[in-house]
Amino acid sequence: METRGRSKLRKASGSAVRRSSWTPAATMRSSSRDARQPSDIETTQNLRNSSEHVKDALISLARNIDANDKSASYKLQRFELVEHEQSVSWYAKAESAASPAELEANRIVMKIREHERRDPDLFGNLASEPVPDARSRDVGGRFLKNRDRIENSKIFSISHAMPKGAHQHLHFNSEIPPEVLFPHARSREMQDTMFIRSTLPLTSSEAFWDCEIVFSVFPKETTSADIFSPSYDPNVKDTNNCPWMLWRKFRNAFPAEIAPSGPGKLDAPERWAREKMIITVDQAYGEGQTHNGIWACFNQCTRAFKGLLGYEGVYRWYIGHAIDSMIQDKVMYAELRPMLLDKSIPPNDGLRKIGLKEQMSIICEEVIKKRRELEARNELDKFPFSLKIIYCTPRSIPLARMRTELEDCIALKVQFPDLICGFDLVGAEDRPNNVRFYADLLLAFQQTCKELRIEIPFMFHAGETLIDTGGSSDPENSNLYDALLLHAKRIGHGYALLKHPQLVEKYKQKNICLELCPISNELLHLCGNAREHPCPQLLAAGLHCTLNADNPSLFRYVYQLSFPAIQHAAGSAY
Ligand SMILES: [Zn+2]
Repeated sequence: METRGRSKLRKASGSAVRRSSWTPAATMRSSSRDARQPSDIETTQNLRNSSEHVKDALISLARNIDANDKSASYKLQRFELVEHEQSVSWYAKAESAASPAELEANRIVMKIREHERRDPDLFGNLASEPVPDARSRDVGGRFLKNRDRIENSKIFSISHAMPKGAHQHLHFNSEIPPEVLFPHARSREMQDTMFIRSTLPLTSSEAFWDCEIVFSVFPKETTSADIFSPSYDPNVKDTNNCPWMLWRKFRNAFPAEIAPSGPGKLDAPERWAREKMIITVDQAYGEGQTHNGIWACFNQCTRAFKGLLGYEGVYRWYIGHAIDSMIQDKVMYAELRPMLLDKSIPPNDGLRKIGLKEQMSIICEEVIKKRRELEARNELDKFPFSLKIIYCTPRSIPLARMRTELEDCIALKVQFPDLICGFDLVGAEDRPNNVRFYADLLLAFQQTCKELRIEIPFMFHAGETLIDTGGSSDPENSNLYDALLLHAKRIGHGYALLKHPQLVEKYKQKNICLELCPISNELLHLCGNAREHPCPQLLAAGLHCTLNADNPSLFRYVYQLSFPAIQHAAGSAY
């Protein structure tokens, strides 16, 4: 057989010399030169040669399939390739340091994940020729559509039970869901001082859905407007106009039939207001929704939250409750990001202003109180590393305002050295300003910190964008350049970083950590779902990454890190 094969091989290689005379490509070249068509005799001869070549080729293929030596070498090369990649992967260190029990636990968790991927009662959306059942869902698919399935999964229970370490990217006002805040706003103490404002008079069913609402605390003598009157003037800039209506009066006059369904403990106006404080399924996934559209919804939610949280009674209560919420999710340390541009919050009676220094004192007092409670119950190990504050201010303010923000941040750091741990510029990155706009001020801030021997590292939101042009049309304005040059310790999101191979290397060299927020990125239209999030690629590129919730209450979930962990696990092979 072998001899015959060799002889055929020789024949095949010999005939290859002649192949140029009959291949279509050669024919085409020939045609283009002299346009002469082959004669009938030549065509018959070419066909005969062609069938001989096919026969030779098949014999040659059969002989090579029978020979196993090449296959063994390929298997070895493949094994070495996979082994090398695994040895330099982002998880290699953890894997090699893991105990046998930890490796076994990992194997079990992966097995459960794969089982639940196939389980028709949970997800069950598998590759198949028939169209999958409409009730099936992708693991790691759209978060708001999948949330109930996730909550029923074993892998979520495991994620929920696991210690999470640090939560590094969590906005202060969006840690607690609105339904927990409404009972405070309707309490006896607040019934004469909690007010609501609308951007439209509520005189039609459309207006109830189109308007934006804001809450605030004012002294009880404040004149209450009537938001349901056609003559209601929403103008808040006119100092002669008061567009605020007492929340108690608003609730009494609210037409109950307007309210959507919602948590049973809320009344109709509260359920209606709640819908304006969270991203709804329609807003997130509705036909025609855009990136800028969902950002506008998000900003409206944020503004609605602010007044329900920003007064002394709830501000004080909130700290302890936020710590309880972290303990429930096994978070052991957190850095909260309050927006401090407003400078003051009112007390419950609205009669004075509580400045930044007093707000930070409230935080410190409540943290100490909570730690003593935990200590008394011998549970301090549940929240052993406490919390710190990252000073946040919007990227949209003029230079003069930014200067006072930097002054206030330094002043707070000097007064609360153990509390203030960073400075951040926040806001949609597809709008002005970019970080570069404030570069001179930020450099002066850094120099001042150096002279004062204090550390306030930058932790800018950067790369939370698809177009990545720093609110302009010029890619040179990407905030990712400035975060690097201004020595940011971490950046919020870094979603767009993979567009910059040079920056990837530099971020690695400088150990700049990325605070990834996969659920936030999905709901704000950077990616379709967690499976499309670049978390696995960023990790594979060797970047330091952490998982975070960003704004869990606005995104309709409470267990801050359990959900992002699940979505990440779904989108990643490891
Ligand atoms: Zn954020």
